[in-house]
Amino acid sequence: MHSIKSLTLDELAGRFADLGEPAYRARQVIEWLYRKRVGRFGEMTNLPAALREKLSAEFDEQPLEVACRTGSDDTTRKFLFRLRDGQMVETVLIPASPALYGEASDRRTICISSQVGCAYGCKFCASGLDGWKRNLDAGEIVDQFLRVEGESGERINNIVFMGMGEPLANYDHLLRAIGILNAPWGAGVGARHITVSTSGLVPRIRDLADQPLSIRLAISLHGATDEVRDRIMPVNKRYPLAELLEACRYFRGRKKQKLTFEFILIKGVNDSLAQAGELGRITTRLDAKVNVIPYNTVEGLSWERPSERVQDAFMEELRRGGAVATIRREKGHDIAAACGQLRLRTLADETAETGGSTRGSEKPVAADAGVN
Ligand code: SF4
Repeated sequence: MHSIKSLTLDELAGRFADLGEPAYRARQVIEWLYRKRVGRFGEMTNLPAALREKLSAEFDEQPLEVACRTGSDDTTRKFLFRLRDGQMVETVLIPASPALYGEASDRRTICISSQVGCAYGCKFCASGLDGWKRNLDAGEIVDQFLRVEGESGERINNIVFMGMGEPLANYDHLLRAIGILNAPWGAGVGARHITVSTSGLVPRIRDLADQPLSIRLAISLHGATDEVRDRIMPVNKRYPLAELLEACRYFRGRKKQKLTFEFILIKGVNDSLAQAGELGRITTRLDAKVNVIPYNTVEGLSWERPSERVQDAFMEELRRGGAVATIRREKGHDIAAACGQLRLRTLADETAETGGSTRGSEKPVAADAGVN
């Protein structure tokens, strides 16, 4: 059964025509979903009862169920959602201040997952620990936004695809979801307030540059040389740094807006002054900006956070050549590094209760699976 939140207004009107219903009914349903934020067909009171029944039989109205939530109103809040097939994804709501990318604003940012697990196996990341399970469909992506707004009672005005999964490996569903989140009849979030983050899928970066919406791009760089990226990010073997930076240049040329580099600072791996200098050169050449995020420890992984002294020296060296760089030391902003932690912990707790195992049940997936 399809999620109704996967469909555009035109597609829904087409489906209504197939059901023998007038097109204005589709607009009424869209208004309930995206203006009044009512997801249950039974509560759409201006629809005839027979139509509500038809819709319930035809569409999945609520693909996500809240399994758990953590955090309070003035902190980062995490929502763990259970999907129809029992899989789980995590969505994070980041409060107005501090905002992402050093902007002092009233932004409320949601960090959305695009896949269950991840095939890319970055060595520092919790999401890749349990392998890739599946792509989310557009309805599951859109519903994260709607459900977090509903659960938190807050209006969200900034979206980052930095949750679990590699968004560009789920390109078609991602673009469809972004279209619905951006549409005036949909969630109405401006394209410039939507950021897609990628570990470096070069062909898809070019595709993203060629599509019409002016969405933003963030690159999870985490290493300023092939040597460092090869060590911690298997995707770099497929798309080495020079190719990645060329694709960034292409994106920058097409979209005329600044790129962001995310750089998780890991002790003894990428925290040297040489890395800082090279990162600075890359950043200024591309007129990009950098977010440096000192590593937050992930259970089951041995990487460590550098000392504050090392962090400060890194930032000083990075900025020496004029690079625009911010450092986010807040514990709550460990999204990119630890987006799968809550899910893994909950799955572990559940299997401990049932005596089962969460590991080893799925097929192994190649580190570059899903790259087109
Ligand atoms: S950092 Fe991103 S691409 Fe790498 S394993 Fe984690 S979720 Fe996947």
